[in-house]
Amino acid sequence: MALIVQKYGGTSVGTPERIQAVAERVKRFRSQGDDVVVVVSAMSGVTDALIKLARSVHADPPVRELDVLLATGEQQTIALLAMALEKIGCAARSYTGQQVHILTDNAYGKARIVKIDETRIHEDLKKGHVVVVAGFQGVDDLGNITTLGRGGSDTTGVALAAALKADECQIYTDVDGVYTTDPRIEPQARRLDRITFEEMLELASLGSKVLQIRSVEFAGKYHVPLRVLSSFGEGPGTLITYEDNDMEAPLISGIAFNRDEAKLTIRGVPDKPGIAALILGEIGKANINVDMIVQNVAADDTTDFTFTVHRGEYKKALDVLKRVARELKAREVSGDDKIVKISIVGVGMRSHAGIASQMFKALADEGINIQMISTSEIKVSVVVEEKYLELGVRALHNTFGLEKTGQPAS
Ligand code: ADP
Ligand code: ASP
Ligand code: MG
Repeated sequence: MALIVQKYGGTSVGTPERIQAVAERVKRFRSQGDDVVVVVSAMSGVTDALIKLARSVHADPPVRELDVLLATGEQQTIALLAMALEKIGCAARSYTGQQVHILTDNAYGKARIVKIDETRIHEDLKKGHVVVVAGFQGVDDLGNITTLGRGGSDTTGVALAAALKADECQIYTDVDGVYTTDPRIEPQARRLDRITFEEMLELASLGSKVLQIRSVEFAGKYHVPLRVLSSFGEGPGTLITYEDNDMEAPLISGIAFNRDEAKLTIRGVPDKPGIAALILGEIGKANINVDMIVQNVAADDTTDFTFTVHRGEYKKALDVLKRVARELKAREVSGDDKIVKISIVGVGMRSHAGIASQMFKALADEGINIQMISTSEIKVSVVVEEKYLELGVRALHNTFGLEKTGQPAS
C-alpha cells in the first residue's frame, strides 16, 4: 500500500466526462489499497477566461483581487471531482488551498509555498477518504488568498507530496511523458523514459511548459519521486531522477523554446565602467526581469548593448530604455518582439566539445541567422527570428538524433 499524490491538469479535467474518467482512475488506485491525494487544475480555458473577465472590469486588475478570482477556477474542479468520486462509491473530501493551510508568502500572482499543515489530510486518509485539493492556490499568514503563477498546480502537487512524504507524485497531463521537445512542434519527438532533475529544471526554465519550474525545484530539493504521465491512457510516463553515473548520458536530452521574449538594443553608449549597471539598474527599478545580455566589443569609445525581457514587458522596457538613451546621449534605441529563444539541454554536454558549433551549423544550413547566444554547463541557447521556430527546432532535433527511430545524423 502506497501513498500517492496525483495532479491532473486542465485538459485532463476539461469536461464532465474527463472528470469522471479521472474519478475512475483514482478508484483503481484505491481498490489496490493505495491512499490517494488528488490535486486538480481549473478546467481547461477557465483560468484564461477569468483573467479576461477581470480585464473587462479593470484594465490592470489589482493583484489581490485577481488572485481571489482566479482561485475560484480550481475550487470548481475539486467539488466536481469529489462528486464524481462519491458517485462511484469512493468517499472523497474536497479542500481549497486555504482549508488545508497551504501557507505562502504574499507575492500575489507568483506566491511561493512556505509550509503545508498536513494533519487534516492525514486524518481524512485514515478514514479512507480520497482527499481532493485545489492546485495553484494558497493563503498568506494574514489569510489573503494567493496564487502560485501559471502552471502552479504542478507545484501544489509536488509540495503536498513532499509534506506528506508520498511514495510518488504523479503529474497527469495530455501527453504521455516528457518528450525530447514539444510534440506539438516536432511530431518526431520521442518520449523519454527518464530525465535528470537538472535537465528538467533547465528545460522548464527555458520554456518547456510541461512542468512548472518551481515544481521541479521542489521535487529535487525534497527528493520527491516525480513522474509525468498521460491521463488519457496507460503507460510508464517519464521518471524525473537523479543523475545515474552508470548510465551513458545522452549528449542532448531535449530542446526547449520560449516565444515569450523580446529583444532591446541601445547603441552608441559610452564604453566605460558603470554603464551596464546604469542601464540594467533602470530596467530593474521598473521591476522588469532581464534574461539574456550581450555587450559588443567597443569599436570606437562607444559600445552597443542588447538584452531580452519578457514580451509582456517589452513596451515598458522600451520606454525606460529611451529615457536612459536620452540621459546617456546614446545613438539609437531599437527593439524586436518577434524573436524566439531555442535551447538545447543535456548533461552529456559537460564531457563533449563541439556541441555548440554543431548547433550553429545545423541552423546555418537552414539559413537561420543567430542573433544572440548564451551558454552554461548543460545548455546552449540562441535567439532567432520567430518565424524560424519550427524549422529551427526540427533541424536541431534531427541533427542531434533525437527522433523516434533515427540515429544521429553525424
Ligand atoms: P496541464 O494542463 O496538464 O498542466 P500543460 O499544457 O501545462 O498541461 O503541459 C502539457 C503540454 O506541454 C503538452 O501538451 C505539450 O504541448 C507541452 N510541452 C512542451 N514541451 C514539452 C516536452 N518537452 N514534453 C512534453 N510536453 C511538452
Ligand atoms: N489553472 C492554472 C493555470 O492555468 C494553474 C494550473 O493549471 O496549473 O495556470
Ligand atoms: Mg501545466
